[in-house]
Amino acid sequence: MNLESEQTYFMQQALLEAKKAYLINEVPIGAVVVHEGEIVGRGHNLREWLEDATVHAEVVAIQEACRTLNSWRLVDCDLYVTIEPCLMCSGAIINSRIGRVYYGAPDPKAGAVTSLYQTLTDQRLNHQVEVVSGLFAEESATLMKNFFKAARKKRKIEKISWYFCS
Ligand SMILES: [Zn+2]
Repeated sequence: MNLESEQTYFMQQALLEAKKAYLINEVPIGAVVVHEGEIVGRGHNLREWLEDATVHAEVVAIQEACRTLNSWRLVDCDLYVTIEPCLMCSGAIINSRIGRVYYGAPDPKAGAVTSLYQTLTDQRLNHQVEVVSGLFAEESATLMKNFFKAARKKRKIEKISWYFCS
């Protein structure tokens, strides 16, 4: 595989993870960690499922990659994620020494890579991460938009049914 088709393939895998989250009613964000051309960790958001605020897609994928490689250092690894990582996930990326991050769509309200903060490229920190953004941005954002649109609709229905039950 050439570099471009490799990037496309791995981002599609991250999108697949996001779709898995969608199916179980989680905010649809997915991620994969790639080491020497192979996926060593994959994850999607599991916050509701596990009632745990820390299990974002990136964290789940990083944890699995650390187990697979039997190391907390993911130096030669790339992370692909559908939405711009938040502060917590940026911290996990820096702490695991991931070399490069590809993300799809920006998150203007929580993004800590480009939108609100630029943590991954902050020269004051002891580790900097290469960042590539915009891969499958539209697909990634559409998945989120559809999810929140459906969630809003569902809440309206719940309100109505509650009203009729009382
Ligand atoms: Zn996060």
